[in-house]
Amino acid sequence: MSGELSIDNLSLYLGSGSQRFTALENVSLNVAAGEFVCILGPSGCGKSTLLGAVAGHLAPSRGSMTLDKKTITTPHPQRGLVFQHHTLFPWQTVIDNVAFGLKMKSIKRDERRSRARDLLKLVGLEDSADLYPSQLSGGMQQRVEIARVLVNHPDVLLMDEPFGALDAITRLRMQELLLDIWTRIRTTILFVTHDIDEALFLADRIVMMSARPGTIIEEIVLEFPRPRSASLLTSPRFAELKRYCLSLLHDDHADVGRLSPLGDLPTYTAVPVLQLAI
Ligand code: ADP
Ligand code: MG
Repeated sequence: MSGELSIDNLSLYLGSGSQRFTALENVSLNVAAGEFVCILGPSGCGKSTLLGAVAGHLAPSRGSMTLDKKTITTPHPQRGLVFQHHTLFPWQTVIDNVAFGLKMKSIKRDERRSRARDLLKLVGLEDSADLYPSQLSGGMQQRVEIARVLVNHPDVLLMDEPFGALDAITRLRMQELLLDIWTRIRTTILFVTHDIDEALFLADRIVMMSARPGTIIEEIVLEFPRPRSASLLTSPRFAELKRYCLSLLHDDHADVGRLSPLGDLPTYTAVPVLQLAI
């Protein structure tokens, strides 16, 4: 199985002259093929920079990155990138947007359309094939975007706050859909978010980053059984881990001390409604 990602002592400096600063410092991370890893950290800590480096858009200042033992140097469709805002062509229909990557590979029209249709089925949009992006809701546009990337059969899917612009209910539906897709295609996913609930709901493992310069401060393996449903969000263990993540992200938070995820924690009857103020 392909999709084994290795980041080794990656440092990345941005800006020039006196504006130069360390965006990422000594980031090392191994992601197994088929694993779902969430990078969680406050805004501005370097999450997008890290994803941009793995995508091949930003060259490391120090350190290295490999996918299946091959050094990452340039962007490649085997590392599919999904952003917060879609990159669909407004003048093309949904199916032509999804088939676009195949056109670039000179695959014949009938096969392109048939493969694009399969992907649209996977994201539940087979009935919207002939619509234009502007005729879709924000959630539907992101589903097309995911299909557009998956049509290339990427070994790793890189997602940068892909549901960040959606309302809470749509976001939850999209998270459930993404997990459903992932169980079917089992590609490696590196998913960036600053939303603790999202990371806890989705990931096999959360990698937490500190504020700038971004560096890894903690890794949390999540053993919540799959398939996961929205009821997980109100479970006591979820609340405990959420509290732990908050304590790491807000070390100076007045009423949330530094807690161990494995220690004896109080049992909560409700999920704290604290939001990350970042
Ligand atoms: P995150 O995705 O975690 O919010 P980013 O990776 O976008 O953080 O940015 C990390 C830091 O680098 C931020 O302080 C941001 O303002 C800065 N930054 C991002 N891109 C550039 C750039 N091209 N030149 C200079 N600074 C940048
Ligand atoms: Mg970002």
